[in-house]
Amino acid sequence: HEAQMHHEPVQVYEQAKDAARQRQIILVRDLRQAAERGELQLHYQPKLNLRDGQIRQAEALLRWQHAELGWVSPGEFIPLAERTGSIAALTRWVIEAAVAQIAQWHAQGLVMQVSVNVSAADLAAFDVCQVVEQALSRHQLAAQQLVLEITESAVMQDQQHALAVLQALRELGVGLSVDDFGTGYSSLAQLRQLPVQELKIDQTFIRQLGPEGDDAVIVRSTIEMSHRLGLKVVAEGIESALVLELLRDWGCDVAQGYYISRPVPASALQAWLASDAAQVLQG
Ligand code: C2E
Ligand code: MG
Ligand code: MG
Ligand code: MG
Repeated sequence: HEAQMHHEPVQVYEQAKDAARQRQIILVRDLRQAAERGELQLHYQPKLNLRDGQIRQAEALLRWQHAELGWVSPGEFIPLAERTGSIAALTRWVIEAAVAQIAQWHAQGLVMQVSVNVSAADLAAFDVCQVVEQALSRHQLAAQQLVLEITESAVMQDQQHALAVLQALRELGVGLSVDDFGTGYSSLAQLRQLPVQELKIDQTFIRQLGPEGDDAVIVRSTIEMSHRLGLKVVAEGIESALVLELLRDWGCDVAQGYYISRPVPASALQAWLASDAAQVLQG
C-alpha cells in the first residue's frame, strides 16, 4: 500500500489500463458460456400508456451475473459482445426467453407486449425474422405481442439490408421501435422510410426535462412531428412526477422510467402490477 503511493501517475494509469484490459478479456471469454451456465436473466421495465393509463407493455433488459465478478451491466458487456461477435447468440437467447415469458404470463391471464433490444450486428449476423417467427410459433403467440427495439444507428449502418429485415419483421406482424432517438444522426425524414411504428426519445432529453428550455423544445417538436408522420412516441428515463406530467400534457403516448418502475425480474413485475403503487399510476 505504502509503496503504491509513491508510484508515478503514469505507472498508476498503466496499471489501471491493464486491469481494465484484463477484465475485458475475462468478460469476452466468459460471455460465450454465460447462457449455458445459467448466468443470464431478463428483467422487465413496465411502460405506462399515457392515453389510457394502462400498463400492458414492458421492455426486456438483459442481466448477467458472472460467477466471480458478480453483476455486469449491459452497458459494459453488450458493446463487448457486439465487437467480438457474441451478440447474436445473446440476442437469440433474449428473444427465446422473452417470448417464453410472454407465453407464461398469457397462460396466467396477463397480456403483456414485450420489447427486446436488437443490435446492428444482429441484423447482419443471423436471420432475426426466422428466429422470431420460430419462437412465436413454438409458444403459439401472436406477433403483435413482441416488439423489437432497434437503435437509429443500427438502421443507418447498412440501410438496404436493415430495411429488408425490418420489412420482413413487419410483414410477420412484429412491432418495430426506434430506440435512443436523438442520439444518432438520422432525422425523422429518414426514419419515415422505415416500416417502424414507434420512436423512443432518448433519456438524455428526458431526465432533466422542464417546462421550458432546449430539451422541452426538442421533445415537444419530436412528439408533434412523430404524430404527424403516424408514429407513436415513447419517452424513456422519466425520473419524476413533474416530467411525467409534462409529457402527458404534450401528448406523449407512452412513458418509461425509474419514476414508474426500475427493471425488475418477471415475478416482481407481476407482484408490482397488482400493488397499490401500480394502481395509483394507472389512475
Ligand atoms: P436501452 O435499450 O435504451 O434501455 C434503457 C436503459 O435505461 C436500461 O438500462 C434501463 O434500466 C435504463 N433506464 C430506464 N429508465 C431509467 C431512468 O429513469 N433513469 C435512468 N438513469 N436509467 C433508466 P440497462 O438495462 O442498463 O441497459 C442499457 C442498455 O444496454 C440498453 O439501453 C440497451 O442498449 C442495452 N441492452 C440491454 N439489454 C439488451 C439486450 O438484451 N440486447 C441488446 N442488444 N442490448 C441490450
Ligand atoms: Mg431499448
Ligand atoms: Mg433507449
Ligand atoms: Mg441505450
